[in-house]
Amino acid sequence: MNRLVITAAFPFIPSDIHIAHIASTYLPADIINRMAAILGYDSVLVSATDVHGLWVKKELQDTNIEAEVLKSNYHERYKKIFDCLDIRFDTYERTDDSALRDLVYESLYNLREKGYIVQKETIIYSCGECLEYLPKRFRIGSSDVVTKTGKIKLSDSENNYMCAFCGSDQIIESIVNHWFLDIQKGKSIIEDGIDRQMQIHVKNYLNSLLCDGLSEWDFTRDNYYGITIPFNDEDQYIYLWYESLIGYLFLANDLGGNISFRHFLGKNIVYYHGIVWPILLREATHSYTVDFQISARGFLDLSATDIPLDIFELTHKFPVDYIRFYCAYRTPDTMNDFYFKEAEFVQVINSVLCRQVGGFLKRCRTILQNNNVSTVPKQGVLHELIYETIVLVRGHFEKLNPNQALTEVLRYIKQCGNIISTRELYKNPSLADLELICKMMAGVIILIKPFVPTIIESYNIFEDVTFSSVDDLDRLEGCNLKFSAETWRTIECVVS
Ligand SMILES: [Zn+2]
Repeated sequence: MNRLVITAAFPFIPSDIHIAHIASTYLPADIINRMAAILGYDSVLVSATDVHGLWVKKELQDTNIEAEVLKSNYHERYKKIFDCLDIRFDTYERTDDSALRDLVYESLYNLREKGYIVQKETIIYSCGECLEYLPKRFRIGSSDVVTKTGKIKLSDSENNYMCAFCGSDQIIESIVNHWFLDIQKGKSIIEDGIDRQMQIHVKNYLNSLLCDGLSEWDFTRDNYYGITIPFNDEDQYIYLWYESLIGYLFLANDLGGNISFRHFLGKNIVYYHGIVWPILLREATHSYTVDFQISARGFLDLSATDIPLDIFELTHKFPVDYIRFYCAYRTPDTMNDFYFKEAEFVQVINSVLCRQVGGFLKRCRTILQNNNVSTVPKQGVLHELIYETIVLVRGHFEKLNPNQALTEVLRYIKQCGNIISTRELYKNPSLADLELICKMMAGVIILIKPFVPTIIESYNIFEDVTFSSVDDLDRLEGCNLKFSAETWRTIECVVS
């Protein structure tokens, strides 16, 4: 079995990571990484801060801050946000590492030798006032709206463009020589990659891109902040997306050959991962692997969302695991957009997490306590349901669907609750009944742990069992029990 290299799309300066990015990318990646360990896979979770690009250049000009200070400030801030939500990377780097630059150069020379890189004339636009290079999204109509990260809602007008940096309407057209990746040449590689995708919405989207036809990919930037193109003496730079994709190979560089990539990202960057990446993966370096899966999610609809977007504000207001649970519960494993409402947040946490999950665990604990159980009974009781559930959860894990895995776990908890009720296990339970209760409790703990890794400890009554692998379920008999009175508080109590 290959080692899984789970990647989360690189945050780039000066974007702020808020709950939308967490819900669509970083939390699903973290949950899948935690599930991998429990299900017996060897995996690592990796990402990096993207410290290059036009916005970094602009930020450096605007703020007059020293480059290293600016990059380090953002890098540390991103790491703090991940720590804050218990999102644990095994490796988290920066894209200005010299080893990454070397790999980028090596890959470019390899691709050129194989005929994938062509130089040709293209039209670029720049501002006559501030001289900035203006790729499409920086050429805006006067009624367009620009956000700080360069997301633009374009107005209908195709004319009357102005510079997104200084507002000047003097847009200069010029013809330049740029370097392109010949995407069409790699068509069969791309098709093979699409065939392998397990998320059907990703597959359909990529097939629609194929139908639209593949054009060459311009990875050259002028007047930019980043790595220069090695093929000429001109002041030309490599587009940050080329660097980011090679960045995945850089992050996996020390892991040896037997790896498989699992990519978590927002729906806006599926093109890079589904069209450009397979060519780089197969042709740009000395082949690591051809196995990759894309797990893409939609956007948070900000107009319908009323919870705080800022992570520090949000974690000040709610416990971290409540935020993790709600995001996992509410974010679909598709590219459909979603929204977060505070009233619904409270309702989901109180009724699903605290009453359904916590209530079940508390009920089991109370029965065991009332019957003075101090070790897990050894009656050889079989609890088949947990193994059946693990098979189903593993299926969702392999398709990189944490939301569906959670639904399966909640179904299991409901079934366990029904077993207690219909068999009246709370009334004069036999030793075998008590053993079954221990096993159901352990089953819930291990399955829900990737979603709420910290608060689950409140209900871990099994001494010296860490629930780090499903194998722990077979080691319960005879295990000592320790009881606490901890419960998960509903949100009204947290606030008051
Ligand atoms: Zn300008």
